[in-house]
Amino acid sequence: MTLVALALALSFAPQSTDDVVAKMITEAKTNSQAMKSLQDLTSKFGPRLTSSSNLEKAEKWMMDQFKRAGCTNVHLEAWGSIPVGFDRGRSSFGRMNKPVARQFEFTSPSWTEGTKGAMKGLAVVCPKDKTELESAKEKLKGAWVVMDRQPRRSRPGAEAPSAEVQAQIDLDSAIDALGIAGRVYGSRSELVITSGSFRDKTFEKHPMDRSVTIRKSDMDALKASMAEGKSVELEFNLDQKFRKGPVVQHNVIAEIKGTEKPDEVVIISGHIDSWDGPGAVGASDNGTGSCTALEAARLLLKAGAKPKRTIRFILWGGEEQGLYGSRSYVIQHEKEMDKISAVFVDDGGSNYIGGYNGHPDMKPMLQKGMDQVVAAFPDLPMRYTERANPRTQIGSDQDSFNAVGVPGFFTLETGSEKYGTQDYNFIHHTQHDTMKYVIPMYMVQSSVAHAVVGLQVANADTMLPRYPKFEYKLNPDGVPGLAELLLKK
Ligand SMILES: [Zn+2]
Repeated sequence: MTLVALALALSFAPQSTDDVVAKMITEAKTNSQAMKSLQDLTSKFGPRLTSSSNLEKAEKWMMDQFKRAGCTNVHLEAWGSIPVGFDRGRSSFGRMNKPVARQFEFTSPSWTEGTKGAMKGLAVVCPKDKTELESAKEKLKGAWVVMDRQPRRSRPGAEAPSAEVQAQIDLDSAIDALGIAGRVYGSRSELVITSGSFRDKTFEKHPMDRSVTIRKSDMDALKASMAEGKSVELEFNLDQKFRKGPVVQHNVIAEIKGTEKPDEVVIISGHIDSWDGPGAVGASDNGTGSCTALEAARLLLKAGAKPKRTIRFILWGGEEQGLYGSRSYVIQHEKEMDKISAVFVDDGGSNYIGGYNGHPDMKPMLQKGMDQVVAAFPDLPMRYTERANPRTQIGSDQDSFNAVGVPGFFTLETGSEKYGTQDYNFIHHTQHDTMKYVIPMYMVQSSVAHAVVGLQVANADTMLPRYPKFEYKLNPDGVPGLAELLLKK
């Protein structure tokens, strides 16, 4: 045989799954792109709040990466829409200027008013009643009001409040009417947690009050200065603004088409959206899961995988506000649910994929892949936890699938002695969701686990056994903008 003929013969020889697995492991260990993708994603776009321009740009960029990896059918699929968009820039800061200079770690809720430039103001304790309000009136104009309770608002359609509550509502709206800069809250710990709601807000009409939450130690320092009777000057720049809606929201979808049963599908996924508190970039929640899905695609294609069933990569949108992307997907693709063998979700931070939990009957079909991954990373053991009842919600996108009987696996994020353990509670939704806390080796292992276990399931003789379906149906009304989307179809 000539060399050319030999090369041709080799390239036509069907690859065994084990050959592909071996190639993927070598590629991952010598040339992993998972950390680089995550570095790029977080530095180019920052955090990716649902409805933000950052998210839109990040989705397009991720699509390009899936195309470069060689995926087909790369596209965005709308899951619904958000009535108003919200963008944060990168120049937010908060600090005490006087009597002592102190930088704060802080956040403010998403979908709330920004400052349009830095706003300095005196720190003034929130008046407790009308009398206190009267004597503090002058000082309150332009002040940052230091709070130890949430303000009371009248709610249209609610029952008439008690006299006591009504007095608080009146007091709080009188404070608003004085033109304060905003309200300052202290966190219960050193973590500042970002959340927020777009509900009942539009670009034209939304509450105009501002609020910030600072770390406990920052609040303690602020209160200590105030207790000394000194004049305390605070300054916040809330670089955040609404943008015109409604904004259509998407899941990012890419595929490696199945060679024998292309209509049967294994889904490998994470969520592309994140919270967007100042300083955080959604690195672990869930840039890691987005980039391990991307890297799994790259490994499979680089190794020449030709899975029997289609492997579909999905980056969910709207996860943080209520699993919207995956719920919408399940509703829109209701008829295809019987053809989805398994859904893998990597959304527990940046530890390694230490296994899966699922029905005992599903275990044997995951075991082969798990054994191959552990053989490649002997310091990183994997386990299978039996979970007979899928109704126990974990709080990420696999829940949407388990509800209709499709086996959905939340990867069991695990730390190791050798590479350490990421404390997820310290990270997710807080100021610490940055690249600093991502553990590179775990990005490598997680991508391999996705690719190997995903490929073994895609090449198995049968689909995974199903869970019994739940009684209830997923409700389109629970996903913003989905009902309108279904009408248009
Ligand atoms: Zn998440």
